[in-house]
Amino acid sequence: MKITVVGSSHGIPEPNRKCTCFMVEIGKKIYFVDMGTSGMYPLIDQGLNPDNVQAVFITHKHGDHTDGLISFVDLLTWYYTSANPQIFLPNLNIANAIDTWLEATLTAPKREINYKKIESGEIFNDGVLKVTAIDTMHCPDSHAFLFESEGKRVLFCGDLKNPKIDFPNVNEPIDLVFCEGAHFPVTDYMPVLENIDVKRVVINHYSPLFTPSAIELKNALEKRNLPVTLATDNMLFTI
Ligand SMILES: [Zn+2]
Repeated sequence: MKITVVGSSHGIPEPNRKCTCFMVEIGKKIYFVDMGTSGMYPLIDQGLNPDNVQAVFITHKHGDHTDGLISFVDLLTWYYTSANPQIFLPNLNIANAIDTWLEATLTAPKREINYKKIESGEIFNDGVLKVTAIDTMHCPDSHAFLFESEGKRVLFCGDLKNPKIDFPNVNEPIDLVFCEGAHFPVTDYMPVLENIDVKRVVINHYSPLFTPSAIELKNALEKRNLPVTLATDNMLFTI
């Protein structure tokens, strides 16, 4: 499984840091988590075929996780028409809003897009990747996602209220966890990460305000032999 951090920024873009988006590749199949920036950019940059995008999973409704979906679906509608990913949304108002946007801006005919509302539990399994949605308390209908493939588990926490109260509960060992750092001192992860079976931690979505606490967490956990990386755009993780 290859995971590219397409956008590592928090709610506001920073120089060379776009809003949240991850691209996951398993063999030729491609999946996205969040689209605060459009997933078309890494596909085009890397010469990948949009037809290979199987699914897009959106953790929650906020614009720094969804705005890029508008241009992504725009291009699916009139140009990459043979691509047909399933798009998993926290609510279907987002699908209606994109429809309204495209009605106002496109001259090409509309096409059917495969939207699905996320419920908690297993939401996707194509025989290569299984995805489980886990409720969080960041905002209405916000979720974390557990990706399971090739015997590996990757947890995308999404945005949280605070890890002390809504860190996603996963009972099996986790190979890689992506933790946000925009809404509380990143050191608030310490009691949780010390007590779960995880091999590697990536902090993404961290703001300048909480960057010192992210470095503090990294130093503390690395003393315990748990590697911690502060994500930047285009960083690639292979597990
Ligand atoms: Zn966010």
